[in-house]
Amino acid sequence: MSELPLPPATRRLGRSDFEVSSIAWGMWRLAENGRTAADTAKLVHAALDAGITFLDTADIYGFDGSGGFGDAEVLLGEVLAAEPCLRGRMVLATKGGILPPLPYDQSADYLRKAIEASLRRLKVDSVDLWQIHRPDILAHPQETARVLDDAVASGKIKALGVSNFTPAQIAALNHFLGHKLVTTQPEISPLRIDCFENGELDQAMMLGLTPLAWSPLSGGRLAAPETPRDKAVAAALDVVAEAQGVSRTVAAYSWLMAHPAGIIPIIGSQNAARIAEGAQALTVRWTRADWYAVLVAARGVPLP
Ligand code: NAP
Repeated sequence: MSELPLPPATRRLGRSDFEVSSIAWGMWRLAENGRTAADTAKLVHAALDAGITFLDTADIYGFDGSGGFGDAEVLLGEVLAAEPCLRGRMVLATKGGILPPLPYDQSADYLRKAIEASLRRLKVDSVDLWQIHRPDILAHPQETARVLDDAVASGKIKALGVSNFTPAQIAALNHFLGHKLVTTQPEISPLRIDCFENGELDQAMMLGLTPLAWSPLSGGRLAAPETPRDKAVAAALDVVAEAQGVSRTVAAYSWLMAHPAGIIPIIGSQNAARIAEGAQALTVRWTRADWYAVLVAARGVPLP
């Protein structure tokens, strides 16, 4: 049976100089449940100690509909201020461009201020990867590119990425950028398979963008599947998980990592043991047959 290669321990972030762990940890849910800086420090250490050196946050993480904007960055900033040596052990990614109650804002003025504000909250001089969180249809990509290029030139941002952009939006922004995009961050999971066939991953490979998969467990749905489709996908993952002695969630991360675009799943758990467990995804080997069995379960119809 034809086996797919094991994922490498690290991957280069697009065409940048950054070498990152091939699985990341994300902080969308960090500022929930009254978590403190001490709790955050434990999670950061759990990730780093497991070899997960790529950390993803955003200015809006913590926002609960009325307040909390910036709270996840503030928590991480407190940890970085208390233990400055941690900064050098991670590749730090954040995002901006969603301004509640406005939906999205990528005007030059807003982006300039948003980047400054993230640096202040994170208590750092620069972030390694800065991503536009969602496309602002009212921003001209040339204006957005100009402000992002300026931020890179000033050293405040080292590399650029986008999230939730269509291939055409990526192409338009990249056209105007001097410092080209190195990442794209769509939702990808065994339950969210659109990008395998809609051109997003093909474009990423063509442009040399590293795809970062958000909600790789579909927000936890894969851990507790309810619908017939979710259960069928979980069962197809379980075949490989059981044969290789890993959990279903680890099998789900590794399924994404087996794709040739070099997808980096972003673990969403805020539980230290589950974050560390994610590193086991490096050990899972997929055959073509098993990989396609998960895809077919998610499609719900056989391949043509
Ligand atoms: P996910 O991995 O799909 O879901 C994580 C959720 O599943 C957590 O609530 C976790 O709870 C739960 N879970 C239940 N059983 C689990 C298990 N056995 N192992 C691991 N988790 C389990 O990821 P996500 O949180 O939705 O998203 C991941 C990251 O993607 C975010 O942190 C963020 O960085 C990024 N993201 C980006 C966007 C965007 O628009 N760019 C949108 C959403 C997310 P516990 O914490 O209790 O383990």
